[in-house]
Amino acid sequence: MFNVVRSEPAPASLAEQRKYDSEDVWIALNKVFHKKCYICETVNPLDINVEHFIPHEGSGELKYKWSNLYFSCGRCNNIKLAKYDDLLDCCDPELDVVRAIKHSPPLTPYAKKLQIEACREDEKTQLTAELLDRVFNSEHTPNKAVTAAFLRQKVFNQYNLLFTQLTKYYDPVALDEEKALAVERIKLLLKPSSPYSAFISWCVIEDDELGPILRDFIGLVEDA
Ligand SMILES: [Zn+2]
Repeated sequence: MFNVVRSEPAPASLAEQRKYDSEDVWIALNKVFHKKCYICETVNPLDINVEHFIPHEGSGELKYKWSNLYFSCGRCNNIKLAKYDDLLDCCDPELDVVRAIKHSPPLTPYAKKLQIEACREDEKTQLTAELLDRVFNSEHTPNKAVTAAFLRQKVFNQYNLLFTQLTKYYDPVALDEEKALAVERIKLLLKPSSPYSAFISWCVIEDDELGPILRDFIGLVEDA
C-alpha cells in the first residue's frame, strides 16, 4: 500500500449526485492514484473500479463523496468485499501506510509466498495486512491461486529492477557518479507512481546504508 495525495478537487459531476463514476471522476482518480490499484499497487490493471472506501449502503452522502472514492482493481475489489471495510486509509495525510505494513518481495519469480507483516498492533493495520496477504498469497480458489502467482511474478520483476541498481551501487569498483546514478534510479522505483513501491520501499528501509540516504523518499512524501 502506498500514500496517496488527493491533490485534485472534487469532480463537478459528483455535485449532481446521479453518477459517482462519470468521466471526470475517472480522470481525477487516474491522476490521484497514478492509475494504480491502491491495494495491490498494480499499474493499469486489466479491470479497474471506482470503489467506495466506506461502503455507502445507500447513503447518498457516502456514495458521491469525493474523499470516499478510491481506485482499485477488480481482483482486489472482489477479495475485499464487505469483510475488509475498516482498513488503513492510504489517503490520510497523517498516516504513513508504507511503514505501517512491511512488504517483502518474493525472492524468485515463482516463489510460493511473499511476506506481509503488520508493524502496528491496532485492528485496522492487522486487517489491512490480512487483506494484503490474501491479495498476494491467496489459494482460496484455483483462480485466485493462479492470479496471485501472476501478481507475485510482477512484484518480483519490479524487485529485479531494484536489484540491478543495488548491484551497480554496491559494485566494489563503482565510481561516485555511477553510485549517484543508481541512487537516482532507485528514487524512481520508490515513487508512489511506480508499481509495487511499498515492496521497493521496504527493501530500502531495511538497508543500513541506503535506508538513511533515501528516508525522505519513502512513505509520506510530497507527490512528485
Ligand atoms: Zn489490486
